[in-house]
Amino acid sequence: MLSEFDLIARYFTRQSHDPTRVALAVGDDCALLNPLPGNQLAISTDMLVEGRHFFAGADPGRLGHKALAVNLSDLAAMGARPLAFTLAFSLPNADPAWLAPFAQGLFALADQHGCALIGGDTTAGPLNICITVFGDVPTGAALRRDAACAGDDVWVSGSVGEARLALAALRQEAQVDASLLHQAAERLHAPAPRVALGIALRGIARAAIDVSDGLVGDLGHILERSRCGATLDASALPIGAALLHQDAALQLRFALAGGDDYELCFTAPPAQRKQVMAAAGTSNTPVTRIGRVDAEPGLRVLDASGSALAFDFASFDHFTSS
Ligand code: ADP
Ligand code: MG
Repeated sequence: MLSEFDLIARYFTRQSHDPTRVALAVGDDCALLNPLPGNQLAISTDMLVEGRHFFAGADPGRLGHKALAVNLSDLAAMGARPLAFTLAFSLPNADPAWLAPFAQGLFALADQHGCALIGGDTTAGPLNICITVFGDVPTGAALRRDAACAGDDVWVSGSVGEARLALAALRQEAQVDASLLHQAAERLHAPAPRVALGIALRGIARAAIDVSDGLVGDLGHILERSRCGATLDASALPIGAALLHQDAALQLRFALAGGDDYELCFTAPPAQRKQVMAAAGTSNTPVTRIGRVDAEPGLRVLDASGSALAFDFASFDHFTSS
């Protein structure tokens, strides 16, 4: 049986970080980071709980990926560059058949983003994974939720709704073709955080958020913090390809209120449209303009003919829905 210290040494201790940025990593009472001059440290924490965020018996490699991905997505939404992360988790037993693929999924994504594991905490208990990420953003350049202005365009990256479709298929609430289900399931289990886009949008976008709980709800957080409203054009929504085979009402519901997309929703002045498209190009991330910010509070969604859609589906809320 592995001891706690064997486990940390074998699976979570590596020497591959950049010593100019990470002065001390796993093994001491604290890690030591060297902040970049002229930058602020962006910090975010997300916890994944078995039975709540993932099913018991979920693939450990994908869990390792997703646990870090959802955190990197928060850095992306601030326009921050990943620097380091900590991993605090409880697990029922120290099983190498679980730990090895978990660490592999985790480090594959960490290495893609140059994000070093610098510490954590390990204890026995029900499976629960908590990651804290640290990133750099030039002072004052972060894309905050409170920065949207009336007249801004509303944009979203990539496409929305497929992760929710995969969840519906798993719950047998929707029929999905095997090949389409594969694509949708990748979105649910292995989201690609939009880090490059977030960085490219510094100085161009005003407000940004990552879409974890659904577009309507997450855009709602920007609007609330920015004290304004918005009008969205339903026909402009970039609906995920796997979802296009479902009926129109379900497409709209999953695109607007399905969670787990991990796309960026952001606002930018119309004068920045060219620059937004250039940022999309340099970061190799499609973006779509889906509406505009209004001075009038509240969120309106218009159909192709310009009539307001009545929608009563709130975004996913951990305490009010299942
Ligand atoms: P402490 O007693 O100070 O809490 P621990 O014995 O819990 O320290 O951890 C020893 C070292 O291993 C610390 O540097 C800690 O950050 C690191 N560590 C513990 N668990 C993990 C983990 N899951 N991943 C990475 N580092 C970890
Ligand atoms: Mg400890």
